[in-house]
Amino acid sequence: MVYLLYCREHKTMYVGETKRAFKTRVDEHFANIRHQRAKPVSNHYKNRSHVRKNSEIYILEHITGVPEKSQNGHRQREREELDL
Ligand SMILES: [Zn+2]
Repeated sequence: MVYLLYCREHKTMYVGETKRAFKTRVDEHFANIRHQRAKPVSNHYKNRSHVRKNSEIYILEHITGVPEKSQNGHRQREREELDL
């Protein structure tokens, strides 16, 4: 699934993709922020003061039953760079 993390305070968006449970991935983002791991999202958050409620997460695409080797391989590689 593809999701969008939007920071209302700075009008910044991050797009990520995961095959795992959405909630797991979101928890991971906030864990990355807490531990200040060098990920695009945590870099954004650690350099600025934030109120968590100003972060919004939207689900952009929810694909089910996609075969392991989908023809979307190319698109998927492009998105990996943006993976959070
Ligand atoms: Zn921000």
